[in-house]
Amino acid sequence: MNDWAKWTPKIPVHFEHGSTEPLRELSSRWREHHQTYPKEIEVIQVPVLYTDIDGTIRWGKDELGRFVNTKDDVRVFDGVPDLLWAYKNLGWRIIGVSNQGGVALGHMTMADCFGAMGETQRQCRGAFDKIVFCAHSPFHECPCRKPKIGMIVDSRQWLFQQYGDSYPMELAVFVGDRPEDETCAANASLRFINAIHWRRGAHLDEVLSERNRKLGFTRNEHEEVLDEQGGVGDS
Ligand SMILES: [Mg+2]
Ligand SMILES: [Zn+2]
Repeated sequence: MNDWAKWTPKIPVHFEHGSTEPLRELSSRWREHHQTYPKEIEVIQVPVLYTDIDGTIRWGKDELGRFVNTKDDVRVFDGVPDLLWAYKNLGWRIIGVSNQGGVALGHMTMADCFGAMGETQRQCRGAFDKIVFCAHSPFHECPCRKPKIGMIVDSRQWLFQQYGDSYPMELAVFVGDRPEDETCAANASLRFINAIHWRRGAHLDEVLSERNRKLGFTRNEHEEVLDEQGGVGDS
């Protein structure tokens, strides 16, 4: 057995509480939406938002002045929970993808890392379908640490097993704050979006405009959708 195999199963963190039922509903809404456009669509194609965690979803080293090591260090950026739920309400799946080399380096225990991910999910009101993290050392050749794409491949497979449907890369995006996120997105053929732009709602606006264009909505209806969702934070 090689070294990294000792770590398997791969530490996927899966939070089902609070998200599964609404998702089933969303999934059927997504189906209805597509049924209004019968065409040749047989498999439902679902967009996925892959997001880095530290410095993207919650305060990271730059904002905190230290790494997130326990759940008490977790502070989700203002506006991010509403932003995530806006995607969710549009039928997107959301996967957190995080390098947590501090576990292998001994800066934090696995339990604390899980605790911090759980607290992140709690502050985001259960928006994540799944959060996966790589707990291996940066000096270790594992298949998952970003910029490698192991966590994306695994979580996409998990989505398929969990919900069926299909998750084309060209419908998905990857949000992150670091060069390794951008490289990881490129390696996985995913469009990369900078965390700061994303938190301003720039990409969500694009998604809403595209959706409204397809549905033939007017601008007022577009704004109503935003209002229904409580708007997007300004942070
Ligand atoms: Mg980051
Ligand atoms: Zn790894």
